[in-house]
Amino acid sequence: MVEVHEKNSIAFSLAIEAIQKLRGSVTNVFDHLKDGKKTPAHGNDTKKRAFLSDLQAGLMLVTIEYEHFEKQAALLPKWTEVPPLGNTSLLSLDPITDRMSFYREALDAYKWSDKMRDHCNLSTMLLSQIKRSSNFGHHASKRKKPSIGSHAIAPDNVDSIILSIDQYFADLTVHRKQTSPYVLQVTVSRTFKAIIVLRGLLIERVVVRATHEKETREDGSPDCWTPSKYLVFQKITDHVTSTMLHYHYPNSPEMALKQFMNWLRSYNKLFSTPCKRCGKYLQDNLPPTHRDLRKLEAYHETCR
Ligand SMILES: [Zn+2]
Repeated sequence: MVEVHEKNSIAFSLAIEAIQKLRGSVTNVFDHLKDGKKTPAHGNDTKKRAFLSDLQAGLMLVTIEYEHFEKQAALLPKWTEVPPLGNTSLLSLDPITDRMSFYREALDAYKWSDKMRDHCNLSTMLLSQIKRSSNFGHHASKRKKPSIGSHAIAPDNVDSIILSIDQYFADLTVHRKQTSPYVLQVTVSRTFKAIIVLRGLLIERVVVRATHEKETREDGSPDCWTPSKYLVFQKITDHVTSTMLHYHYPNSPEMALKQFMNWLRSYNKLFSTPCKRCGKYLQDNLPPTHRDLRKLEAYHETCR
């Protein structure tokens, strides 16, 4: 290990030496050119020739030094292929092989998070445009709320928002089951129960189960993981999970949660609503488990 370090540091010092020499030779050429301007325009031919041959020699030296530097650079350890990342880049110098990938993984994670931030900014901008156009003229002053991070909201605030949702939607019953993590049990009429895990106001997970299925684990904590044993509620869980990503407005998480709940209550007559397209109640022994995002209309999975 020490040997590798020693080899690396020798390679680095040789490369630094080579680039210093290269810089010196380039500086000489420019100095020479600068001084050359001082010679009179109609000076004698020998002076001109001497100037040109000196310049040529200087350029030759630059070429030689450059080639030398290139050779030295090729001998450097391969970590220079990846972009340096402050002190973190020292990780890539660790010669222990099983830690070598750590730096690359860190780089990938940074790239990923940068991309995600860009996407978030773009979506926020687009969503705020949509909101502005749809709310134009209504409650313009009401929307001047301080912006809050959707994931960092005190449980008291979440409680009051949940209470307002519970009171606002007659066919939804919302119960808080746990505060850390924040778990809600939402009963949609007498159709099903949805266990919703929130981080602040951000929905993290939803599981839909029949009203008579167990809602707690053996230790009494809410069961946020076990899927329903009924295919119909498994299908609805899948659909709800993809929809919760749709209702994500980083700038107005409360609105997002309310809209999600409004969408969820469109399941209140799950077994007595015919499919909007085929007009049937059942298809493959399943009711329409899909709900349209705009009009909240019911469709079979294959009819949408
Ligand atoms: Zn259908």
